[in-house]
Amino acid sequence: MPERKSATCLGCGKKAEYTECSGWGTVPEDARCRVLPDWLTVTRWRGMGLVDRYDFCSFSCLQKWVEAQVPGIPDTFLDAFGDG
Ligand SMILES: [Zn+2]
Repeated sequence: MPERKSATCLGCGKKAEYTECSGWGTVPEDARCRVLPDWLTVTRWRGMGLVDRYDFCSFSCLQKWVEAQVPGIPDTFLDAFGDG
């Protein structure tokens, strides 16, 4: 039996279960490519054989997550553009 897996959107928490395709035989009804259309998967290489995968259901969820990973622009920098 092929392994059941699940993907969770890190932006909104949406969850989807799918069956991993083996590349042989018929494609399962709930194959990842059928269950997760338009999803985005970001791969982060961490070293030999080590990868982190992050799943997102849409570009806006990916953007939200990326913005949360990037440190915010310091207020002092924004102040430089102020009136005073
Ligand atoms: Zn999402």
